[in-house]
Amino acid sequence: MNRNEILRGVKRVVIKIGSSVISHREKGGSDLVQGLNRNMVRHYSRQIKKLIDAGYEVALVSSGAVMAGRSRLGLDRANLSIPEKQACAAVGQSALIRSYEKKFEKLGLTVAQILLSNDDLENRKRYLNAKNTIDALLSRGVIPIINENDSVTVDEIKIGDNDTLSATVACLANAQLLIILSDIEGLFTRDPGKPVERGAEPAKLIGHVERVTPEMEKIAGKSRNLVTVGGMYTKVMAAKKTMSFGVPALVVDGLDRKVLEKVFAGKNVGTLFYSSDGKIKGRKHWIAHTLRPNGEIVVDAGARKAIVERGKSLLPAGVVGVEGKFEFGNCVRILDENQKEFARGLVNYSSGEMDKIKGMKTASVRSVVGPNFYEEVVHRDDLVAL
Ligand code: GLU
Repeated sequence: MNRNEILRGVKRVVIKIGSSVISHREKGGSDLVQGLNRNMVRHYSRQIKKLIDAGYEVALVSSGAVMAGRSRLGLDRANLSIPEKQACAAVGQSALIRSYEKKFEKLGLTVAQILLSNDDLENRKRYLNAKNTIDALLSRGVIPIINENDSVTVDEIKIGDNDTLSATVACLANAQLLIILSDIEGLFTRDPGKPVERGAEPAKLIGHVERVTPEMEKIAGKSRNLVTVGGMYTKVMAAKKTMSFGVPALVVDGLDRKVLEKVFAGKNVGTLFYSSDGKIKGRKHWIAHTLRPNGEIVVDAGARKAIVERGKSLLPAGVVGVEGKFEFGNCVRILDENQKEFARGLVNYSSGEMDKIKGMKTASVRSVVGPNFYEEVVHRDDLVAL
């Protein structure tokens, strides 16, 4: 698939904005004392507004909290202690979100802040909660702005860099594209930061990567900038992750102010990571093969057909029986009326709630479960026909 074909299938896109893209290098100052570059925040807010007007759903993963906090607190040292970094993140995060909020508000758009930690992503219940929240926001035209919850996580248990976080968010949100905006143009055939030896080929930008090789991982190397956390290496690893979920990732130069326009015009900018055989989505694989089911849901023939033949979600109306004890977010086996398992999925209701709402039409379900209402018992994104 070429870029235009990929773009045609994109509705939901996750855009990662790196610290270096929205930071302001003070003339004569050190690499570390940078402030939030509000012009760039305004610029990207406008660009994103254009995408939303064109019908895309956009979730942002934005770095910059530590950078903004550093400059606010005047902490101009390379080695900050953990509490100092966490203090910077706490101060900077509110400055960051305030800036986005102000710019988007002027454009008539609402933003929402989501701070995630590794724990949230490893715990199925919290993972699902994050996913459902992002879905609810996007379907209302709100822009989720996501960052790591830096002020409560220490290095050992951190996600650590927002490239990795953005890849996880792209998979979790079922985006069709991840765009990483950084100060790096993309992946090169060799480290463009290093001098070229005599007679050697100069570094060339790789336009399309279908498989990340160990050699590419080596070339990607480490960061060239003291302020940003990830270098090309974390971007390549992030892309490897989204590719295994069938989600294309595009690494482009966010300092080029026209870059999003170029991307959506199908121009060959940056490096596209995509392979059409990443189609069996890792997440579904995880549901079908890794998770241990906690219970069973028996469904009628109509629901079975909708799931197997049309890839639909399971709704309460199609449920005829509930077996075992399970909680919101657990994996359940889905059986037909002959007790034969034909699908598995992550359930939005506990077995107790399921007992009450089985067979019910959506409107009555809402009145029974109140605020815990979900239209689907198992959403099709969390459902695998076996
Ligand atoms: N979460 C960090 C921050 O907002 C940035 C991590 C990264 O740049 O990858 O400062």
